[in-house]
Amino acid sequence: MKINLLGVQVDSLDMAGALEKVAGFIAAQKPRQVVTLNPEMLFYAQQKPALKEIINQAHLVTADGVGILWAAKMAGTPLPARITGIDLVWCLAQKAAGEGWRIFFLGALPGVAEEAAAQLQKHYPNLKVAGAFHGYFQPTEESGVITKIRQAQPDILFAALGAPKQEVFTARHLRALNVPVCIGVGGSFDVIAGRVKRMPPWVQKIHLEWLGRLLQEPKRLSRALVLPRFVWLVLKTYRLA
Ligand code: UDP
Repeated sequence: MKINLLGVQVDSLDMAGALEKVAGFIAAQKPRQVVTLNPEMLFYAQQKPALKEIINQAHLVTADGVGILWAAKMAGTPLPARITGIDLVWCLAQKAAGEGWRIFFLGALPGVAEEAAAQLQKHYPNLKVAGAFHGYFQPTEESGVITKIRQAQPDILFAALGAPKQEVFTARHLRALNVPVCIGVGGSFDVIAGRVKRMPPWVQKIHLEWLGRLLQEPKRLSRALVLPRFVWLVLKTYRLA
């Protein structure tokens, strides 16, 4: 089931449901795109119809962030769970290790994708890594990167190029990549490789993870400033209309 949030379709499911969907995509062996939607992306999608279209054409859209859950509640269509990119990476790595699915890691600074893959393999020794490549390639190198991924024949592509770059890249090259599950996972590799620390569980629980990340990486300020505008847009649309 999908709900409509500010013109964007979001899947109403929990992690178990998301994993089941991914398993279905791999069984079907057709290229599919997964978007973990956060409030910034939903906000920008209002201004950029092309981005809205990419999200609406994705085969699975999960609610990444409490802001999306809150907006869904305001819209009168509450969602069952938050499914972040990094939680999906961990859960899919575990499931992939059990199922024998092969994962390609694309993104972050040189060396980080390999490091993230190695960390996941430490936890799940049976995890098969199809390949890894950094996310700072030039436009002229793009077709080489696509060929590399295509030839590695992964079941899952974790694209950690940041939003919305990773969504634009996977949507544009979905057929050429020919990977059953392409997922944009933002800064997950940096966290898994230990380059950026995730906030402790109690901070996550009181929904202040975003504030902790902002303090760690002040360059996120301009992004954080989108949040009050997002809140206002949601209130205007669903409460004041
Ligand atoms: N990144 C990349 N290529 C780029 C720009 C960014 O691989 O051209 C990586 C960056 O190194 C980081 C991730 O993309 O690992 C973006 O992380 P962020 O936390 O900003 O993700 P978001 O929250 O935007 O999804």
